[in-house]
Amino acid sequence: MEIDILSLFPAYFRGPFDVSMVQRARDAGILDIRLTDIRDFAENKHNRVDDRPFGGGPGMLLAPGPVARAIRSAKKGDRSRVIYLTPQGTPLTAAKCQELARMEHLILLCGHYEGVDERVLESEVDEEISIGDYVLTNGCVAAIVLVDAVIRFIPGVLGHPDAAKEDSFQNGIFDGPHYTRPETFEGKRVPQVLLDGNHEEIRKWRLSRAIEKTIRVRPDLVGAGSQKYSKENSREPLTVDC
Ligand code: SAM
Repeated sequence: MEIDILSLFPAYFRGPFDVSMVQRARDAGILDIRLTDIRDFAENKHNRVDDRPFGGGPGMLLAPGPVARAIRSAKKGDRSRVIYLTPQGTPLTAAKCQELARMEHLILLCGHYEGVDERVLESEVDEEISIGDYVLTNGCVAAIVLVDAVIRFIPGVLGHPDAAKEDSFQNGIFDGPHYTRPETFEGKRVPQVLLDGNHEEIRKWRLSRAIEKTIRVRPDLVGAGSQKYSKENSREPLTVDC
């Protein structure tokens, strides 16, 4: 997958993209990330890309010209999906990440100040995505979150091909609890079922714990109108009264 990130702060990405899974995916040639400074597309001698909003109000706006030129320079026809990170976008979910992981080329536009002139959003952006109901100072952190969450679904990025399938939200509920050695830590023992070696019992136990926590913490995920869920895609759907 190719990802172009258009922002005012390319340096922002150097740490997060140079470690862990993102770095491994880049080293393996699975992921190619290019960082572009929107200021490079300014057409004035001070490289200015912001201006005051018409109609007044606090803050500045990213002007349409530099943003449009930056997007157009990155675009590769129909292969590209242009995404603007904004609190006004549709929420980033696991399902959306899986969908984006199948794309060949993403262009991520990171806003700053009060955001971006509306006209360039209308003409150049395919989709607006939010990482949550709060407002960040700029879109760089949101782009880092999106890249990290999306690449987990690209085959070859995670060590085990089934790792992402077991994670929270994949089946509409959380992942189950995990334990490792020692068997007893500060007086607390690992649940006996995990030590007995009965795989079907372990599966059922993990599932019941996952359902219990999901209902307790996120009843909206399993409540009326939400999708039925199944812990393993191949198995029967499970419903829950809550
Ligand atoms: N005035 C805008 C509003 O209230 O909708 C907020 C602008 S915010 C200060 C600056 C930039 O941060 C946005 O253009 C966007 O790129 C990014 N941003 C802020 N919160 C975000 C969120 N929850 N998800 C994705 N991007 C966000």
